Amino acid sequence: MSARNYTNDGGEFQSPALDRLVRSLSSLPGLGRKSATRIALHLIAQKASSEELLVAAAEAAEKVTNCSNCGAITEPDPCRICCSERRDPTQLCIVASPVDVLPFEKAGFFSGRYFVLGGLLSPLDGVRAGDLPFDRLAERVNRDGVTEVILALDASVEGETTALYLQRLLDGRNIKMTRLAIGIPVGGALAYTDEVTLQRAFQGRRSF
Ligand SMILES: [Zn+2]
Repeated sequence: MSARNYTNDGGEFQSPALDRLVRSLSSLPGLGRKSATRIALHLIAQKASSEELLVAAAEAAEKVTNCSNCGAITEPDPCRICCSERRDPTQLCIVASPVDVLPFEKAGFFSGRYFVLGGLLSPLDGVRAGDLPFDRLAERVNRDGVTEVILALDASVEGETTALYLQRLLDGRNIKMTRLAIGIPVGGALAYTDEVTLQRAFQGRRSF
């Protein structure tokens, strides 16, 4: 059944229930009305998959939480990274969002632990130091005897502002502070690299 069969001349469906479903799907990030309509019609046609979706969403909403220690998305709290004896608590990688932990864990080369800020400083958008958990971070650094902090933040104005704030916050504690090098992507062509990336790659050049 196509969307056309459901619509009347005004573009609204002849079913308030379907309209409501489309409206609630369109409120999800990244879904426009067109995609929401396609998904809604699929869910109506495939009752089993819509029931499975409801159960999965309810279960995730009930069980998934943020680790009370590092902020990563997890089911057990504290998360398995914070609980693992194999992860070095003195090496702390600071990221903005819980999803930023995933590429590190997928790559598997980092054996330290994380701290998720849950955002970046952005005075223009009203995100100030008091809005981010810097107190909890300072406590964590003291408690775990952190000796190295790796800042894995976006290469944006907000990322830079947050990095400078963290540098001042942790200054004088005898902590080695590093940031991810920004460079030419593997397989990327030098001629098409933007000037900020090129400048950061040049500043971070290494002997070989
Ligand atoms: Zn954790």
